Amino acid sequence: MSQATRFDAIVIGAGAAGLMCAMSAGRRGRSVLLIDHAEKAGKKILISGGGRCNFTNLHTAPDRFVSANRHFAISALKRYTQHDFIALVRRHGIAYHEKKLGQLFCDDSARDIVGMLLRECDEAGVRLALETPVTRIARDGLFRVETSRGPFESESLVIATGGLSIPKMGATGFGYRIAEQFGLKVLPTRAGLVPFTFAEADPRNFKDLAGVSCEASVRCGGTAFDEAILFTHRGISGPAILQISSYWRDGDTVEIDMLPGLDAAEHLKRLAAERPKAEVKTVLSEVLPRRLAHRVTPAGLDGRPAGQVREREWSGLAEDLRHWRITPAGTEGYRTAEVTLGGVDTSELSSKTLEARRVPGLFFIGEVVDVTGWLGGYNFQWAWSSGYCAGQFA
Ligand SMILES: Cc1cc2nc3c(=O)[nH]c(=O)nc-3n(C[C@H](O)[C@H](O)[C@H](O)COP(=O)(O)OP(=O)(O)OC[C@H]3O[C@@H](n4cnc5c(N)ncnc54)[C@H](O)[C@@H]3O)c2cc1C
Repeated sequence: MSQATRFDAIVIGAGAAGLMCAMSAGRRGRSVLLIDHAEKAGKKILISGGGRCNFTNLHTAPDRFVSANRHFAISALKRYTQHDFIALVRRHGIAYHEKKLGQLFCDDSARDIVGMLLRECDEAGVRLALETPVTRIARDGLFRVETSRGPFESESLVIATGGLSIPKMGATGFGYRIAEQFGLKVLPTRAGLVPFTFAEADPRNFKDLAGVSCEASVRCGGTAFDEAILFTHRGISGPAILQISSYWRDGDTVEIDMLPGLDAAEHLKRLAAERPKAEVKTVLSEVLPRRLAHRVTPAGLDGRPAGQVREREWSGLAEDLRHWRITPAGTEGYRTAEVTLGGVDTSELSSKTLEARRVPGLFFIGEVVDVTGWLGGYNFQWAWSSGYCAGQFA
């Protein structure tokens, strides 16, 4: 067996969580090797937020995360908060702004965030090995990591290889396989923050509405989000849909209120009274995008002047628009999903250190863990928080 180069800690995955962990461990004086099979670090950061990286959310709180254990994220989120990350961004002189709903974006480019993390790693003495596939991991006292650049050994091993979303960018199931290799439970994974699709043959597919968007309240089970929805050629997307997709299971019905915050029946009747000669679809166009208004006008009311529509019919129409039910055929899957739900079972990990309870020295951080944030900067905050915490102990 060839002689391995030894480090205190090896971090596999130079994405958001891995970079944060490596710099935090390095700052503690640990010798750290950060390995990635990709040719650059932080590729997902670079494409995130439309190239401007929505790097955190001012309203980060544990209830913004989906996990089989909704308490698990509390400790890490408290120990490294959104304000800690904002302070780091400020120290590096990176200009940022709040877009909406507490979402913080770089003014300029996501490259600033990657640059900042790489500089921090460099200053902390982290050795970065890119284009370095890992071929085997074993443990015999120390962890032994076999790579295309030869073997390395360490006391601590941190798995930060992310989830399955966007395989084209190098996402792999590597982290889940390593967890299973060490006997840790992995919860079933599925795509999250992802558009819904309709069956091609579904008469209610909305191809003709592709490109139309409107504000809505979207509900699945006990969870609802008020934001925009967007019709696409294959189904339906937009922030409210992406959010609810993380709560949706195959076969579930999703309920959409297309007139949120309005007393819809009263509002429609008032509009009709103001324009009794206008057609129903014209009246509806005052509260919905025109193409959508035309599509949702019931055949029985099409062409009728608004003044001739009975009260009961307005109430019925309002009710339909407030409780529009769709049953998606599926989602666009990992190809376009922003995140992967499920993953390494949190019951296997310490919530304080992210270390596997049964395998001392082995840590899992970021998206590979069964903690998934809402849309809006929460996933990066989980990567920073979990990465920082593991970096304090690895
Ligand atoms: C298009 C898109 C936009 C997004 N925008 C945002 C946003 O604006 N805000 C937000 O909060 N979240 C956003 N997300 C989600 C966010 O990017 C992820 O939640 C976050 O990157 C997870 O961090 P991570 O470090 O756990 O994994 P990743 O950032 O995915 O990093 C994993 C790293 O591991 C490496 N790796 C994988 N397998 C191996 C292997 N076998 N060997 C070696 N290395 C390996 C990968 O190359 C990668 O560098 C977005 C996601 C996508 C897809």
